[in-house]
Amino acid sequence: MTAQADLQPRIVSFKELHDKLFPLLQGYEWAEKELHDLWKIGAPDPQSKPCKCKDPRTCKHQKRILLPKQFQTWWKMICDKQAFELTAAQALALPTLKGKT
Ligand SMILES: [Zn+2]
Repeated sequence: MTAQADLQPRIVSFKELHDKLFPLLQGYEWAEKELHDLWKIGAPDPQSKPCKCKDPRTCKHQKRILLPKQFQTWWKMICDKQAFELTAAQALALPTLKGKT
């Protein structure tokens, strides 16, 4: 079994990347921005045309070429950061019920 199949560059729109990964990142406000930054690191796909979508999260037209190594580096950063945020979030969540029952 090789990991080759998983290590191909992928051509993705931000929408595709967002749809795929955002569910894993929900609750982390910083993560959506990081996700967009990751996408912007990728080289623009020469075949995609410029468009005027206002929200990159819903744009399927512009694609970028994402290299596995870029993704792996990014994911590791997210995991490191998320672990820290989770700890902080848990700590903050304890005393603040704000009258909810
Ligand atoms: Zn578009």
